[in-house]
Amino acid sequence: MTGREKVEAIVHNWIEIDLSALRHNFAEIKRRAGAGVEIIPVVKNNAYGHGAPIIAGELVRLGVRTLAVSKMDEALTLRRGGINLPLLVLSGLEGNEYGDALEHNFMPVVFSPDQIEVCNMVGRDRDRRFPVHVKFDTGMGRLGFMISEIDKIIEVLRKSPYVQVDGVMTHFADADNRSSTHILEQLTCFERIIKILKSEGIFPGRIHASNSAAFFLFPQSHFNAVRPGLALYGPAHFAPDLKPVMSFKSRILQVKDIPAGHSVGYGRTFIAPRAMRIAVVSAGYGDGYFRCLSNKAEVIIRGVRCPIVGRVSMNLLTVDVSHVPDVVPDDEVVLLGSQGHECIGADELAEKAGTISYEIYCRLGANPLKRIVKFTGEEE
Ligand SMILES: *Cc1c(COP(=O)(O)O)cnc(C)c1O
Repeated sequence: MTGREKVEAIVHNWIEIDLSALRHNFAEIKRRAGAGVEIIPVVKNNAYGHGAPIIAGELVRLGVRTLAVSKMDEALTLRRGGINLPLLVLSGLEGNEYGDALEHNFMPVVFSPDQIEVCNMVGRDRDRRFPVHVKFDTGMGRLGFMISEIDKIIEVLRKSPYVQVDGVMTHFADADNRSSTHILEQLTCFERIIKILKSEGIFPGRIHASNSAAFFLFPQSHFNAVRPGLALYGPAHFAPDLKPVMSFKSRILQVKDIPAGHSVGYGRTFIAPRAMRIAVVSAGYGDGYFRCLSNKAEVIIRGVRCPIVGRVSMNLLTVDVSHVPDVVPDDEVVLLGSQGHECIGADELAEKAGTISYEIYCRLGANPLKRIVKFTGEEE
């Protein structure tokens, strides 16, 4: 092998990204936001595993002005992928990232006086104002200033002429709970913060608080900008009319008949109660599928739901296809997504796996070497 030969290999499992579903979800969000509310899509963690440059590229075409990522390296990945919008860095900047961030038009979220001072110094060196989003912890107990610190922050901002407050923000702890009163307390606190800043002559710029759940369930949380992530990628209990963007698919390697009493997979967790037909599928926990879905989840083959039997292995899993006629090796298997009239959503897998749809997307989308991405819905 010189390394120059063209090596062909069959792809055994892959995710598909449906950009027309993304467009649908964005349009739904836009319609509900109404005029005057800016949408700042969250594309952190490689767009929740969907592929940040591609998702961001589509959102740029749909007219967004700013995107949010978690860290500076994600922002750089987007720049290298040709995304030229201002990028909001939700987890803030560290160490020596500030200079390059300003050059690249990245806006950090700031949550300590030191960060504001560094931005001011870096801005002064370059004779440019450094845009920042000031984050308040109104009840999430994570990043952000406490309201008790507001006098100090106002003082620091006054002494930082090279810092431009481009936005003021907070984040909700309990927004997907329709009957939450905690979110109402957070809103009251946030409104008070905005009022104090304004009365002290600090123009807050873009005021934003809503993640997807708050956006759909609590319209009073919209202010003049919103930060949806999940809702762009798929339906959730608070927004069922959205469409899933990601599918995860694989193929059958072997179809076999086993007699009653034969066990399937590691640990012999499944013993055939009768003669059965088993399909061996070319995907496992090494490909991002959850091992805890062993003997729990279903897949779709030939438009029919088939239960996983036995343990999910690293790169294989086994399903009962006794009730599906004509199953043969190489048949397509849908582990997440739809086929025919059946659909397996991320929420369904998440509930069975004891997690949330976010983690399903992040894991299935985590390993670019183990899958190809097919783009569907390009036309239209
Ligand atoms: C991830 C994140 C969001 C988006 O949350 P979703 O629930 O996916 O809509 C918004 N704001 C912040 C600060 C985040 O970290």
